[in-house]
Amino acid sequence: MRVLILGGTTEATALSLALSKDQRFETLLSYAGATRAPRPAPTPWRVGGFGGAEGLARFLTAGGYNALIDATHPFAAKMKHNAIEAARLSGVAFLAIDRPAWKMGSGDAWTMVPSMSAAALALGLERKRVLLTIGQKDLAAFLAAPQHAYVVRSVDPPAPETLPPDAISLPLRGPFVLGDEIALLRAQQIAVIVTKNSGGKATEAKLIAARQLGIAVVMVERPARPNWRVTAEDAQSALAWLHQIASTERGA
Ligand code: NAP
Repeated sequence: MRVLILGGTTEATALSLALSKDQRFETLLSYAGATRAPRPAPTPWRVGGFGGAEGLARFLTAGGYNALIDATHPFAAKMKHNAIEAARLSGVAFLAIDRPAWKMGSGDAWTMVPSMSAAALALGLERKRVLLTIGQKDLAAFLAAPQHAYVVRSVDPPAPETLPPDAISLPLRGPFVLGDEIALLRAQQIAVIVTKNSGGKATEAKLIAARQLGIAVVMVERPARPNWRVTAEDAQSALAWLHQIASTERGA
């Protein structure tokens, strides 16, 4: 079975690793090229866009793919819509990994906001020390809130001209552990964390650290998602679905 995984996430890497050990599957992992050095992949991989839903549909048909897995990040809204449309156009079996969102628990002080500009506004007028864990592409909104001091943690360092005036860059890739997150929040005297509601374990420790230290969180809610017919919460469930398809194809 030929499987195309749209990646850039821990689930995509975990799924491609599992498939690389099973001879029934021939897997290609696709990266957008958003990070300078993607994680080494356990399967063959490619980088770059397909040219919209139609381009992806053509790629699936030309490559004789049997299944498409959308394992993109919850905030990769465009690709999620392209993927479901490409599956429809090509008739290829399709599953989306729908990573559960984080939920506010007791002891959390979260402000939920719909966008990055709303997040910048939610920081208020008074100067604060802010940890931004939103990646390096969405910093523009914070140029409008130059009164704050920012620590910007992202996989790749942002271009200097995209940073607010009082900002330092911490180029780091997760996963992050609780002890390190507590140490960072204390050392940088952080008052507020701004994060996307990415969900998942790899970057959850900052939220637990914030709860323990009484630090506020501004949580940017997820963009609208397509109406998926088949979803899996994690790589393990996506693997089970692929096993089922593989046995059906064999029996056919
Ligand atoms: P996006 O806005 O949904 O996608 C923009 C364009 O990038 C798509 O139209 C597509 O180009 C191309 N693309 C996206 N994912 C691709 C993939 N896996 N393989 C090939 N092309 C892809 O996505 P984004 O928010 O810029 O994110 C880009 C990538 O980074 C995604 O793969 C995502 O999983 C990963 N990522 C994103 C975030 C985030 O916060 N947004 C966080 C962690 C990881 P064409 O239309 O030309 O095909």
